[in-house]
Amino acid sequence: MMPRLFLVLAFAGLALAQPASTPGIQQQPFGTHDGRPITLYTLTNSHGVEVRAMNYGGIIVSIRVPDRKGQSADVVLGHETLEGYIPNPPYIGAIIGRYGNRIANGTFNLEGKTYTLPKNDGPNTLHGGIARTFDRVVWDGEVKGRNEVAFSYTSKDGDDGFPGNLKVRVSYTLTDGNAILIDYEATTDKATPINLTQHSYFNLAGEGNGDILNHEIMINGDHFTPVDKNLIPTGELRPVKGTPLDFTTPTKIGARIDDKYDQIALGHGYDHNFVLNHKPNENGLVLAARVLEPTSGRTLEVWTTQPGVQFYTGNFLDGSVTGKQGHVYNRRYAFCLETQHFPDSPNHPDFPTTILKPGETFREKTVFKFEVK
Ligand code: BGC
Repeated sequence: MMPRLFLVLAFAGLALAQPASTPGIQQQPFGTHDGRPITLYTLTNSHGVEVRAMNYGGIIVSIRVPDRKGQSADVVLGHETLEGYIPNPPYIGAIIGRYGNRIANGTFNLEGKTYTLPKNDGPNTLHGGIARTFDRVVWDGEVKGRNEVAFSYTSKDGDDGFPGNLKVRVSYTLTDGNAILIDYEATTDKATPINLTQHSYFNLAGEGNGDILNHEIMINGDHFTPVDKNLIPTGELRPVKGTPLDFTTPTKIGARIDDKYDQIALGHGYDHNFVLNHKPNENGLVLAARVLEPTSGRTLEVWTTQPGVQFYTGNFLDGSVTGKQGHVYNRRYAFCLETQHFPDSPNHPDFPTTILKPGETFREKTVFKFEVK
């Protein structure tokens, strides 16, 4: 009798001594899709940062971080249920592939062959096509250790027009340094373009809490890739200096977002790929951007191994999506920092290559790091 009572008391004591949410990973059923179970993984660290992700689309469902007073808020747009994400026209929170961003006229040549992709953005292919793109398929989820969840998926030869059986693995790790590490890995059995990114929509004041025009951003890129009317890069690498795309020093997102500059008009605001200044740290990561929301004091830093970042200010959000807590997501209610290779690289031999060949392993890493100021 005595030992059992002691055990009960010991556990009760343990529970009381612990913070509201225990560091580690919890799993819960989150519905089914295509007859397969969807699991919601909740990663919590010792500072009360909490990230939820699921194996449908590899979607990050929520990221809760404290503000400077210790008040937690969910800083990404999203939905409370799986159904909310089906469909998900703005690609909220999802892994994007096989090719993030645009491929002009839905076509490219590779090793003497012309490939045709489904067009879903005027004349272009956006975010990999239509049918079995990475944002809308069921991945295999696996918990690794105490703070990592890994998602795996095999895209078949010919899926959405792309060559090769492509095996992809994307993992999210939540560190005690309040960083989400995103590791991408892929192999193929035929040469194929690949450009993977993460499409979280951030609002550091809390999702649904107004627009992001008051956030201050620094983007570590002295150049950007100007676009034509279809948002396809012209091939030029243009200095940001003297343009409303100069974020080399921290500037309010809203300060010049409706400027008359032609590139701003074409993007309906910011929807541009910045060429990151290549000064990697000891881990091979480059600082892509730093964002501060002055009222809450929350900051986000984005670090990456990738050569570019798409800064998108939610210009096409139009109130047609209602998300968490009944919040209506209006124009510019969030921003995305999509680390990536440059748009339309398969048709721009001068851009860093996106072609993955058999025998090679594609590896990229991006870090979302949260702090308060
Ligand atoms: C693109 C935007 C697009 C958004 C949602 C971003 O990556 O650059 O033009 O509207 O994704 O699809």
